[in-house]
Amino acid sequence: MDTKTTSKTLQHFIGGSWVDAEGGATFEVLNPLDDSLYCHAANGTGNDMRKGIAAAKNAFPTYKETLPKERERWLLRVAEIMEERRDELVDCLIDEIGSPFQKAMFEFDKGLTMIRAAAGLCRNVRGETIPSDAPGKFSMSIREPLGVVAVITPFNVPLIKTTRLVANALAVGNTVVHLPSEMAPHLTVLFAEIVAEAGFPPGSYNVVTGFGHEIGDDLTSHTDVDFVTFTGSTVIGQHINEICAKNKTPNTLELGGKSPTVILADADLDEVVPLAARSIYMFAGQACIGSSRYYVERPLYQEFVKRFSMVASKIGMGDLRDPKTVIAPIISDRQRNRVREHIADAVAKGAKVVAGGEWEGNRCQATLLTDVTEEMTVCKAETFGPVSSIYPIDSYEEGLEKANDTEYGLSSAIFTKDIDKAFHFARNIGAGMCHINGPTIHDEAHVPFGGNGESGVGREGTDADMEAMTELKWVTVQL
Ligand code: NAD
Repeated sequence: MDTKTTSKTLQHFIGGSWVDAEGGATFEVLNPLDDSLYCHAANGTGNDMRKGIAAAKNAFPTYKETLPKERERWLLRVAEIMEERRDELVDCLIDEIGSPFQKAMFEFDKGLTMIRAAAGLCRNVRGETIPSDAPGKFSMSIREPLGVVAVITPFNVPLIKTTRLVANALAVGNTVVHLPSEMAPHLTVLFAEIVAEAGFPPGSYNVVTGFGHEIGDDLTSHTDVDFVTFTGSTVIGQHINEICAKNKTPNTLELGGKSPTVILADADLDEVVPLAARSIYMFAGQACIGSSRYYVERPLYQEFVKRFSMVASKIGMGDLRDPKTVIAPIISDRQRNRVREHIADAVAKGAKVVAGGEWEGNRCQATLLTDVTEEMTVCKAETFGPVSSIYPIDSYEEGLEKANDTEYGLSSAIFTKDIDKAFHFARNIGAGMCHINGPTIHDEAHVPFGGNGESGVGREGTDADMEAMTELKWVTVQL
């Protein structure tokens, strides 16, 4: 297997300079495929984080006065340099987090569109004129950037999340302090190199690497942080929400999911099965919007189970650099144990494994379960692995009810030719996103992306981030 180790020790990027952690401490980042050493990274302390925040705060008054055309030029330059350094970014996505080549390329292409869409956002930070009851008074709302934005990103799609959130924050005139996942710091360090080369002023973008559970609170609870955008697990999102509530810091939270797919009896299985497989097995199910529950109307149920299991058993598990490979290693021991426990618990309580269930090194085979009941952990909890359950339903109404039987509410999908049922589902599913005749895994730069309930608060995307990361100010002129 061709894996690469960077000899680099990654540093923080603060105020336009590359600096070691206080005391020079570092930590190891492992390649999840074989747990070999990938690189070392600066092990940030609370003081390092405070330096990052101070740099962003100092840069803000000047940065917010930069012109839309300057920010647009810098962002478009970021996209150009990303293309020049594509192989390096793709290699990093493969070796740092175990992305198969096809997922790494998908993420790279998506990341480019995020940056270009953010460049367009620079000219779209708009308020409005408002009629006034006061004679001779001209009344308007203007949008102002908030100040320092804290960006906290997960391991699984580090480039998509970094490009979207950092670029949108910078596009509307904020400065940024970024805490990347301790499992994916190199990707963010590469991005910081690109941002610096593109011409963004020192202090506009700062990166502090380290462990979230050690220095995350130093970021989210700091009174100089004006907005927090967090993507990660529900439990940490809840913790951050409580900190932000105390300080009245506005925030968006993009958290976990248990996204359902409903398949009605009139659906075409030739079309549905490949999309169903894509919905759960891409990056081995380590996707927040992956579909881990399939509700299939009884006339199609047996055939769906048969065909889906056949596809699952052939899903590519070869070299990560082979474009046909789909199944990735599970990122860490903790996550591997969770996947193992979910499968073992289900089997012990009577579920049938109709595909997969075995491991090859750190990779779990594409796994499908039937006969899953509510007592099984896998029924309701997020697995974050290549494991999905298939349930029979007797009607559309039962499918909707079961799809809604969750505390999460991120993505959802329905396959049917019945437009009335499809739209009824879209309107009544308690999820932030619904795809009719398409997979739960879908994202674009300019859409309102996000979830409800345990899946989060607020939406991301160019328009949503523009609204969340700026504030309206009411201004009048007495003429
Ligand atoms: P995680 O919650 O373990 O870590 C996410 C980030 O939080 C990391 O950068 C970590 O360092 C940081 N962190 C940890 N403790 C912190 C604290 N006290 N304060 C501030 N930051 C802290 O999640 P993960 O394992 O990296 O990612 C997987 C999870 O992310 C899954 O639950 C998945 O569903 C979710 N996710 C959601 C979306 C979405 O858009 N809804 C997208 C991707 C991933």
